Amino acid sequence: MKPRPENSSIKRGANLLLQGAALTDLSCPACSSPLFRLKDGTLWCAKDEKKVVVVKEGQEAPKQTSASGTTYDKLEATLMTKIADIEGKIEKTEDMDELQKLTSALSELLSSIEKIKKMKA
Ligand SMILES: [Zn+2]
Repeated sequence: MKPRPENSSIKRGANLLLQGAALTDLSCPACSSPLFRLKDGTLWCAKDEKKVVVVKEGQEAPKQTSASGTTYDKLEATLMTKIADIEGKIEKTEDMDELQKLTSALSELLSSIEKIKKMKA
């Protein structure tokens, strides 16, 4: 049987994907194979089985996205606390005016959370 280097590099690539690596649109400067991005951000050539350093503008962009994602998460958590707070008040109140205020505040909070979820997506 002939050795199949191409096939084994495909297998290694598939293994990388299983480990959570992502296929990028970059190619290896040495062998032109598509590069994988490992979970720690390392670019990896499955054919050469080595780390590849590709300097490309805009690579910092994903980090910025995750930073603002954290801000949204915090905001969402704060709003969720307020919702729980209002929910408790709605349960206790017997004043119809107060109930109306509470429910409208609640629906505003819920739509804010909807917006945050869309921005995060
Ligand atoms: Zn390579």
